[in-house]
Amino acid sequence: MELTDLYREVILDHNRHPRNFGHLDPADGHADGHNPLCGDRLSITLRNAGDRLEELRFKGNGCAISMASASLMTEAVKGLRHDEVETLFQQVHGLLTGTAVPTADLGKLAALSGVREFPVRVKCASLCWHTLQAALADAASGHAAPVEPVSTE
Ligand code: ZN
Repeated sequence: MELTDLYREVILDHNRHPRNFGHLDPADGHADGHNPLCGDRLSITLRNAGDRLEELRFKGNGCAISMASASLMTEAVKGLRHDEVETLFQQVHGLLTGTAVPTADLGKLAALSGVREFPVRVKCASLCWHTLQAALADAASGHAAPVEPVSTE
């Protein structure tokens, strides 16, 4: 099987059977994201345990890339320390924008590397990560302020 076929399989699988789909209640942090270019919408809720992201769920609707990316992300970040989440985001961003090559530690997230051939899709794939950052910021602030929806524009 070609690597690109394998990547396509992973995207299709996560789009059809999204992992960690739903809504956490109660949650420590929550944020909504919107990609107006494509119409993708995401809502992320999460719970922390100390400096670790203990649990998270996403809900939303959008294109296959946005949904698969969110599903893959939830699997990849669950249980990580917050600084590890940030490091992973930088790696994924490099992967999506073509400034980094897939590395073994990215695991299934490497399936998103095909997105770099479609620049308009990069925002679809990165929406969940921006929304996760906002949800982590919301948790860090203790829901101090209402969170503006994240927009990729
Ligand atoms: Zn999209």
